[in-house]
Amino acid sequence: MAEENKMDKIIGFCKRRGFVYPSSEIYGGFAAVYDYGPYGVELKNAIRDAWWKNMVKDREDIVGLDAAIFMLPKVWEASGHVGGFADPLSECKKCHTRSRVDHLLEDAGVFADEKMSEEEINKIFNENKKKIKCLKCGGSDFSEARSFNLLVKSNLGNFTGDWDKEPTYLRGETCQGIYVNFKNVLDSARVRVPFGIAQIGKAFRNEITARQFIFRTREFEQMEMQYFVHPSVAAKEYERWKEERWKFYAEDLGFDAKNLRWHEHENLVFYAKAAFDIEYNYPFGFKELEGVHNRSDYDLTQHAKFSGEDLSYLDPQTKEKFVPWVVETSAGLNRTLLAVICEAYNEEDVGEGDVRVVLKLKKELAPVKVAVFPLLKNKPQLVEKAKEIFNGLKTKHTCEFDDNGNVGKRYRRQDEIGTPYCITVDFDTIEKDNSVTVRDRDTMKQERVGVGELAGYFHQKFNL
Ligand code: ATP
Repeated sequence: MAEENKMDKIIGFCKRRGFVYPSSEIYGGFAAVYDYGPYGVELKNAIRDAWWKNMVKDREDIVGLDAAIFMLPKVWEASGHVGGFADPLSECKKCHTRSRVDHLLEDAGVFADEKMSEEEINKIFNENKKKIKCLKCGGSDFSEARSFNLLVKSNLGNFTGDWDKEPTYLRGETCQGIYVNFKNVLDSARVRVPFGIAQIGKAFRNEITARQFIFRTREFEQMEMQYFVHPSVAAKEYERWKEERWKFYAEDLGFDAKNLRWHEHENLVFYAKAAFDIEYNYPFGFKELEGVHNRSDYDLTQHAKFSGEDLSYLDPQTKEKFVPWVVETSAGLNRTLLAVICEAYNEEDVGEGDVRVVLKLKKELAPVKVAVFPLLKNKPQLVEKAKEIFNGLKTKHTCEFDDNGNVGKRYRRQDEIGTPYCITVDFDTIEKDNSVTVRDRDTMKQERVGVGELAGYFHQKFNL
């Protein structure tokens, strides 16, 4: 499958099978915003749960947080977002499309790290202007690059009506909610440095280029963890977190290691001590999935300065007082979901020109775990028995009942959404052995399992 072709197929598949829909579609759609359908929301929840289990539940030194999307605007001044959260943009003089300068450079094969300063990017842009083509019309005449702030403004609590002068922002990243609650968590939970605070939640950015489906959207979800450490161990902790996060993708999500790689930031922002991204090999190339950063004491120091609160830590044993350094792991839930689908999407030639689309998801992530079918829809005993089995299993696993079309078609529908097991109730179930056929998604092999053993069978299959 050609890679561009694969992306188009995946976008079509996501809509057709109820994973991801374009927002406000009946009104013509809303750029760079997407909705998650019945299977998409299950898959998103399963990825979120896997992350939370790995980062919070399975560890003793990380606690959770759910901070509000709205924060006092001063937070975003302290974080540097009001002044500096900007992408240089340039307008094509022919078709008036505005594009991110780093994207134009990338398309022209010129290296530009998006973390470069605006000045540096502009310099490279001007030097390479002859090579650069508009991504829309191919034109080569561009305006000077200008910055565009990515924070999304709202009128919350603004009674003067002047949104520009008194904006309240929708958060541009979830980690600021963690920094401003550092002291609250320290004073109220049983934590001691080193410890981490984890949060999953929505973030909003006025992204200019809306490309690559759910990879870059204006509303998205982040899964972030900030680990607070003594400055002397920050470099060591940073290396440990790099390993941990790689393992999450390779083991918990089951990605093939050849589809993952590290990308080191060449130009670090002044406060950062190290920054690497984990990239995934999407059909449109290796792109950032998660950032792992050693942020020094920058964030707590900034918030201490702007708020007037002391955000240092007093070590109860050594009595040393210091501002902890932060190792941050910052992942995108939607980008991870796209990677999970790209990794799992398979088209298998099953002979005679027939192609089986199968989503080979890790079983734990599958939106539907078990599907239950009566062999025939119009035989009440079969339907009744299948319903009974379905009702028994659905309290433990997400199940789907399907009696539409023939069994072969039902298998294909379940393969497409990645359902690991299908149960068929047939005449032998009723008349002979009180057993059902359980069919495996990947091997397509079938085995007979006694109705009384089904609960234990799936308990074992799903490693519960
Ligand atoms: P990019 O370089 O792709 O713009 P970034 O480096 O600005 O991303 P961070 O600010 O480090 O991203 O955010 C952490 C994570 O949040 C990213 O690794 C990504 O997974 C996710 N993320 C950031 N922006 C978006 C977006 N517009 N849409 C979806 N996910 C995003």
